[in-house]
Amino acid sequence: MPAKKSPWKQLIAGGAIACVLSSTSAVLAQDLQEAPACRASKNPHRLKLEQKFEFNGIRVFYTQSGPHALYTDVDLNRNGVPDIVEDAALHLDTVRQIFNRNGFRDPLRSTRFRRAESIDIDFLDFGTYSEENAKKRGLSFSGVVRYPGSRNRDDRCSISIGINSTMRGNHERVKDYLIPHELFHLYQYGYTMFRASWFLEGMAKWAEWVTLAENERNREMWSTSLPSSQKELNERVFFNPNPYNVRHFWNRLAELAKGQDAPMIIPAELRSRRFADGTPVIRDEVWRGHSLMLKILQELDEDDDKVTREKNRQPNQWTNEDQRSVANNPILMRAVQRAVGSFRISTPEVVRFLALDPASPG
Ligand SMILES: [Zn+2]
Repeated sequence: MPAKKSPWKQLIAGGAIACVLSSTSAVLAQDLQEAPACRASKNPHRLKLEQKFEFNGIRVFYTQSGPHALYTDVDLNRNGVPDIVEDAALHLDTVRQIFNRNGFRDPLRSTRFRRAESIDIDFLDFGTYSEENAKKRGLSFSGVVRYPGSRNRDDRCSISIGINSTMRGNHERVKDYLIPHELFHLYQYGYTMFRASWFLEGMAKWAEWVTLAENERNREMWSTSLPSSQKELNERVFFNPNPYNVRHFWNRLAELAKGQDAPMIIPAELRSRRFADGTPVIRDEVWRGHSLMLKILQELDEDDDKVTREKNRQPNQWTNEDQRSVANNPILMRAVQRAVGSFRISTPEVVRFLALDPASPG
């Protein structure tokens, strides 16, 4: 972009500083050019969420009446806000700070979400909102959207996750895996357009461990060997009928790479955080394999840019079909292999995995 026109440059006489500033503004200008538009929506369901709770820039929208009403109005700390609402915001902010401090790029800093100003949580009855998702506990959305018809949303562009407001047990899940899982999807979307379920769901299952306590009961969680043949790669990863079960693959990668993790950073202020019922937000300070997972996302960030150029697609605006195409599988897996390879782990299991050609039909 023409840096000459940068207003910053006109204000600054010193050449070196101006140079830094103008290249930053050039990057920003390119970002904005490649950032999908913020779409105006009249979604009638979200407009019904007339109550708002805000915490550290996170906005939570909910209602206590009508079809979307929260199934629980427990308010142990009697501050007028249902505990499920404030617990969701507190958990999201905590996890977001941990993700960010450990090197993951905040979704709002990605080009794809450049036009979004906040991350929102919407408590909706999924059965009413979208029947096909009626049985789901949480959803994450990759669109940047504003709701001009909603008074309490201030016409602000945002990205969002949804929590099923009427599903019993969701308050417990909000304090547990649900918030890290859905938030991590927003990070994945920010890094890459690839949308294979084995990648999105399997890796998000791994990400849940960020605030969860280590599960000592289920040892298989970390010990299922990596695929060692094309057949295993297809059956257990690419075409696994349950994409959540691909967590065994991602967890195993994390286990193998944990010895090379950068020390996990948890800001001191977060350690003392408690949910409304007094239980700690952070259950332990172990998050195996986070350095490897970050590396994989960074590889994918470049890979989808390459595909965008090769196929002459709109940056950050692939069709749904292109995002989900199985033709992306080898690209995704090669990024995993490159990242694992850079960690120089030489056990026979890893050597065999790295030798697999993910493009071969098996
Ligand atoms: Zn998910």
